[in-house]
Amino acid sequence: MLLEIENLAVEVAGKRVLKDINLSIDEGETHVLLGPNGAGKSTLFLTILGFPQYNVVNGTIKFKGKDITNLTTAERVQLGIGVSFQSPPSIRGVSVRDLLKIESHQEINEPLNARMLELAQKLKFNDEFLDRDVNFGFSGGEVKRSEILQLLAQMPDFTMFDEPDSGVDIENVELIASEIGTLLDKDLKHDSRKRSGLLITHLGYILNFVSADKAHVLMDGKIACSGNPAEIIEDIRKEGFNGCVECAQCIK
Ligand code: ADP
Ligand code: MG
Ligand code: MG
Repeated sequence: MLLEIENLAVEVAGKRVLKDINLSIDEGETHVLLGPNGAGKSTLFLTILGFPQYNVVNGTIKFKGKDITNLTTAERVQLGIGVSFQSPPSIRGVSVRDLLKIESHQEINEPLNARMLELAQKLKFNDEFLDRDVNFGFSGGEVKRSEILQLLAQMPDFTMFDEPDSGVDIENVELIASEIGTLLDKDLKHDSRKRSGLLITHLGYILNFVSADKAHVLMDGKIACSGNPAEIIEDIRKEGFNGCVECAQCIK
């Protein structure tokens, strides 16, 4: 198992937000996390990443067989966890180009490598754009495309996305979704490692482009239901989140 979360309970600002979460993601699998606003989706994401405000009061998180519950965020990233934030911070004084060099382990005084230049072009960034400060004054779509580009520089073993489709127009959603597909590639076209991921999304368009192995519905800090993504999504579309939880397809 690549990621193994057992009996996880998390408090944020003194409030119990996650209550007894159990979730396992195997190598090569992509899971989808669904759920109403305020259910705790971003909390789970930031807890896996190890943000210190998210206080683990019970349970464990294992990654590649190692207990990472008490590791720092930097240590988790080092182990192969990559993230695309819902609202990433801007970094004044650091250009997109330089950040891409750092993330793809290049020397800062060398020109950005051809693979990254090609990917930048594919994500509709021109050369001038690469010299802008990271996320500073970027549009919603530019922020998301830039996050994906940074992840493509890192190619993490496990990548988490927090609503990569929110605030992005249809045309860019397709572009982002297809590159998320590259990051979670099961066909091993890029190299020999099996990539895995966790995708938090509204019931969006993005799932038409990214194939998911399993979906989980998070409600009120608990996983209410897990199962086949297409079936769960159809239930939610028809009957809302409560309808899904009550349906017969759920593997409790
Ligand atoms: P979701 O991503 O599913 O919409 P969140 O994980 O963002 O839900 O939030 C779950 C609950 O935890 C909400 O009630 C939210 O207000 C609370 N919460 C999350 N992060 C913080 C924080 N940093 N400080 C205080 N409350 C928080
Ligand atoms: Mg995969
Ligand atoms: Mg959220």
